[in-house]
Amino acid sequence: MTLAIGVDVGGTKVAAGVVDTGGQIVAKLKRSTPAASPAKTEQAIASVVAELLAEHQVAAIGLGAAGFVDAERATMLFAPNLAWRDEPLKQRVEERIGREVVVENDANASAWAEARFGAARGYSDVMLVAVGTGIGAGIIINGELYRGRWGIGGEPGHVRVVPDGRLCGCGNRGCWEQYCSGSALVAEAREFARRTPEGAIRLLQLGGGTTEGIRGPQITQAATEGDPAALRCFQIVGGWLGQGLADLTAILDPACFVIGGGVSEAGELLLEPARSAFERALTGRGHRPLAEIRAAQLGEDAGLVGAADLARRAIAPSPLEKIPDSLDSVLRRWRRRRPRPTAGRSRSA
Ligand SMILES: [Zn+2]
Repeated sequence: MTLAIGVDVGGTKVAAGVVDTGGQIVAKLKRSTPAASPAKTEQAIASVVAELLAEHQVAAIGLGAAGFVDAERATMLFAPNLAWRDEPLKQRVEERIGREVVVENDANASAWAEARFGAARGYSDVMLVAVGTGIGAGIIINGELYRGRWGIGGEPGHVRVVPDGRLCGCGNRGCWEQYCSGSALVAEAREFARRTPEGAIRLLQLGGGTTEGIRGPQITQAATEGDPAALRCFQIVGGWLGQGLADLTAILDPACFVIGGGVSEAGELLLEPARSAFERALTGRGHRPLAEIRAAQLGEDAGLVGAADLARRAIAPSPLEKIPDSLDSVLRRWRRRRPRPTAGRSRSA
């Protein structure tokens, strides 16, 4: 059994694990990220790797990091939540640990892990959409990660969905992640509670009496209890999610979308309205198979599991397991589902 180390470097924490060829984590460590200093972040990465290396024989080491990784998978061009700007991450970490490392974008690593070991296992055309503070994404086409010419493809969070819409952290207006993210969910709930406090009694109660106290977990809890205001917030954000997935399908036609990120922990509260909006918005609906829309299975471990597997794959290629899924069988499955989306809903709009 060839072991590999995967490290997931996020804006707040560094998580590292020793991962076997079946995607199982045999050891795991976590540290907070000193995000303001590139050198200290690299030191934190090196120290967790050194600690795992002391106990385990591994064949490869992979880093999944939140930011733009260049086409050589060596330099962090830009990281929105870390201090990396044109940082030669691969070289800096290799100098510290004396071993080769493979660098990957964290959402790409998560997409790979979900396709190999998680929710999209058996599919070779997959898109992961991680709905968290913003939107992260990874694209797998015909069993390979698609990175674009310069390494930074697959950032649909910054596709403009509303002309002159809400201002985004990237400097543009109307980006998808301004309408479909944890931040958007919280903004909807607070706005509703400010305008209609009598309709947001449960949300305000869970938020300790103030609109500012309403956060993601409170909205999920209220929605789970059936609170109409909280459910409405998930309808809105889920609607934007489904609409965006339909737009992505117009370009990529994937077999399976895996929805990850913090908001996806709400499960069907988010996915049900997303599937409805997806089916309404899809061009040629009724005459084509529908992509699966599934919740991620690997949770917060996806990034480190994927980074480890991609690093191992760099030395010993391992293809995605393929289910021979004929168009016939997909159409049969889809026809069985067909009555559901049309029942009781007007399509005249
Ligand atoms: Zn943007």
